[in-house]
Amino acid sequence: MSRLVMKFGGTSVANIERIRNVARHVKREVDAGREVAVVVSAMAGKTNELVAWCKEAAPLYSQVEYDAVVASGEQVTAGLLAIALQQIGIPARSWLGWQIPIRTSDAHGSARIESIDGEGVIDGFKRGEVAVVAGFQGVHAETGHITTLGRGGSDTSAVALAAAVKADRCDIYTDVDGVYTTDPRILSEGKARRMERIAFEEMLEMASLGAKVLQVRSVEVAMVHGVPTYVRSSFDDPANPGEGTLICNEEDIVEAQVVTGIAFSRDEAQITLRHVADKPGVAAAVFMPLAEAGINVDMIVQVVSQEGMTDMTFTVGKADYDRATAIVEKVKGDIGFTSMEGAKDVAKVSAIGIGMRSHAGVAARGFRALAEKGVNIRAITTSEIKFSVLIDEAYTELAVRTLHSLYGLDAA
Ligand code: ADP
Ligand code: ASP
Ligand code: MG
Repeated sequence: MSRLVMKFGGTSVANIERIRNVARHVKREVDAGREVAVVVSAMAGKTNELVAWCKEAAPLYSQVEYDAVVASGEQVTAGLLAIALQQIGIPARSWLGWQIPIRTSDAHGSARIESIDGEGVIDGFKRGEVAVVAGFQGVHAETGHITTLGRGGSDTSAVALAAAVKADRCDIYTDVDGVYTTDPRILSEGKARRMERIAFEEMLEMASLGAKVLQVRSVEVAMVHGVPTYVRSSFDDPANPGEGTLICNEEDIVEAQVVTGIAFSRDEAQITLRHVADKPGVAAAVFMPLAEAGINVDMIVQVVSQEGMTDMTFTVGKADYDRATAIVEKVKGDIGFTSMEGAKDVAKVSAIGIGMRSHAGVAARGFRALAEKGVNIRAITTSEIKFSVLIDEAYTELAVRTLHSLYGLDAA
């Protein structure tokens, strides 16, 4: 008998009618003789509302209690879907993270799954029961505190559960019918194309460079445990859904392209330090305190020094910008820069493709095309299978469009 984990995101469970629709998707799989666990997100907008309530209650709220609050959204949908399934004659029960249990680290707000006990869910399968699991949440065993996995974390709950119960596949249902060459919302005339398949490595880059269709960690888990994962649409006819996009091994991709996708992130802020002394230990003096404060630094660019002085540019998330500049200001005495400049109206646009490993000049062509459109590049980073440019935020759409057509990704 085949075993399946299905995950439904916020828009897919936005109201009772949408939840009934989800129940119909689940029924199709049960009727086909599969053992099914369903992972659900909170109803659309619910998590944002809960986050806002925490901030309203106290600006420096407890992260532990934040998790207790925001995990509640998923509890509601898990119960409602179990009811909707029972209503159409399918035995089902809801599971919260701690009941399974899904054990995590104690990094509240962005906890990591450490282990999942699949026994209870599998016992339920033996009784012919669908398991409806609240996504996004777990429990820290030592303290017994509820934890959450970071925004978009239900994707990770689903893939990790699929690995734990040895499911044959994990289907991530969302509001688009697959992974596209770029966010379909930014290319309004339908130029983005749905991919049949995308390699784990590419999806990992797409997700970490801003394509929020899957949480980064879910792709890591899928890759490490070899879970065949599909992205599909809950808006398809439950009786006849499309196949979606399969995230798979590189070897399973028949028609490899040089660039497979364009991602972008508006969540960037730039910090530039002028006239930093070019001596050993300076980078550590800047970046250690930022790391200790839990601030993720992304792009780092240092120019060749002139007369023992250099300029250093790096980016952090927009939300961390004020904290980051305050920290850097504090270490000014140790490193001695002349001025700090910052910009929050920047964006990062990236091109991703495993074909870049074997093709030269891919990034260079991209830089030229952007230049021809008058897009100024503030910083560049590259790796084996991607390059990213930091640009003025106002040019995001133009840059995505330009690279998307340059690399032959536009739909016919
Ligand atoms: P869910 O609530 O189902 O988890 P999300 O909003 O988290 O849904 O993710 C789906 C959204 O991801 C889509 O509506 C789409 O706008 C966005 N997205 C960004 N990049 C891509 C991409 N390359 N392909 C498909 N969707 C993308
Ligand atoms: N509800 C959570 C969020 O909005 C988790 C998820 O949807 O995956 O981030
Ligand atoms: Mg999501």
